[in-house]
Parts: sequence; C-alpha cells; structure tokens
Amino acid sequence: MSGERKGSKMSTSNIRIKKICAWCGNEFEAQKSTTQYCSKRCAEHAYKDRKRQEKKQRVETYEVRRVETSKNDALKDKQYLTVIEAAQLLNRTRYGIYKLIYRGTLKAYRLSSQWTVIKKSDIEAMIEARPYERKPKTTETVSDENGEAVTEFYTTKEIIEKFRVSNSWVFALGKAHNIPKVYHRGKTLWSKAHCDRVFTAKPEPPKEYDWISYSEVRAEYNLTHDQLHNYVKYHGLRRKKVGKYTYVLRSEIDAILRPPTR
Ligand SMILES: [Zn+2]
Repeated sequence: MSGERKGSKMSTSNIRIKKICAWCGNEFEAQKSTTQYCSKRCAEHAYKDRKRQEKKQRVETYEVRRVETSKNDALKDKQYLTVIEAAQLLNRTRYGIYKLIYRGTLKAYRLSSQWTVIKKSDIEAMIEARPYERKPKTTETVSDENGEAVTEFYTTKEIIEKFRVSNSWVFALGKAHNIPKVYHRGKTLWSKAHCDRVFTAKPEPPKEYDWISYSEVRAEYNLTHDQLHNYVKYHGLRRKKVGKYTYVLRSEIDAILRPPTR
C-alpha cells in the first residue's frame, strides 16, 4: 500500500501528547512523552531554579557541618563531659553511651540521679584498651587422630538436618566417638569427615540387653536419683518404664557420662 509508513516515524511526527508544563502549569501538546516544558523559556527557568536549589542545599549542608565541627571543637577542650556531650564527641546516640557505661566498657561517675559525668581521659582509655585486631577465621584449630588439620565442618544444625538426629544425640555421639570439634562464633563445628562416618550408620533399634536400670546407672556413676534424672531429661535420652523401674540405654548414658578418652 502506498500510504504505509514505518511505525517509528509515525510516533515522532504525527502523535501529539497532552501534557502540563512543569514550570508554568499550562497545558501543551508534546511530541515526545519525555518533554516536560511547554517552551524553551519555561525549560530555562526550570533549569535556573534547579541550580539555585542545588546551591542552597550545598550551603545548608556546609552550615550543618560547620556547626557540628564547632561543637566538637568546644568539646575538645573539655575535661568532663555529660552523656550527651560524650555522644556528640563519639558520634553515637545517648543510648549508645549508656550501653558502654552499663557494660563497664566506659567509666562514668554519677554525682546525682540527674548528673552523670564522664572524664574525657576515660573515653581515651576505653579506646586505647581496644585496638582493632583481626580475628582468625576460627578461634581454634583442631586436628584428627593422624595429626592432620581438620578443615571441613558441619554445624550442629546441619548434622541434625542431614542425619535426622536430635541435638543431644549429636553431642552424645560426638563425645562417644571423639569427633574433632571447634567453637566458632558461639557455634560448635564438627569435623565433616568424622560425622559422615559416625552418623551415616543409622542407630540400630535398642536390643533388650542394652537397657540398664536407673539403680545400676546410679551405682556405676555414683549419682543421686535426681542427678541421673536431670541428665536424662537434659539430654532427652530414651527411657522405658517397667513396673516401678526406669531403664535407659547403656550406649546413650555411657556416651554422656563416660569421661572423654583423650
Ligand atoms: Zn510553560
């Protein structure tokens, strides 16, 4: 057809979009959807205004910084600070300073219920006492039976999920099998290779002779009834009651109560 044109040409030459000028507020017809102003004049006005605003913002920011700096300069000459002043000096909140005080990290003096004084020298002492030290990746290292360093670990949670065992069972077997472990950021890490060996073997259902009575355990480990009961509860050990006697599994109780072999 003769009247056919390419779509892109049509959109720039023929389409008119009704818009409101962002400077004067009058309605106008734009050729592009990105056009914001009705005229070159309005566009220039808007540009100048934007530059003015930016400059104002810069001046205000500078002013805020200048005031903060002069405040800090005044603090520099003081020997005794209030909690608020200490907060300003260290660029923390008052609450942050109180936390340091309550923790015993920062020394402070309470002269009355409303009046707490912090010596500038105590702030400096607090800082001096805590140089930044790079922490090693794990707090300890551990080696296996052959003296080789263990580098791969499971967390306790990973073992529980992977092998479908209980938390206390992880620790019981860990102890019974001397699985090398380290503590890292409050967590116990267990040697991966050892865990794969120890935990893959599904625990066999208890045999009849594996049950041992409370009184036998108490005699063997020299425990009161309450002590034993607490161990059993705490570690979530399996129990069975026959008549008035309570039985636990020898393997489980040994894993918990037997002193470590190394
Ligand atoms: Zn305009």
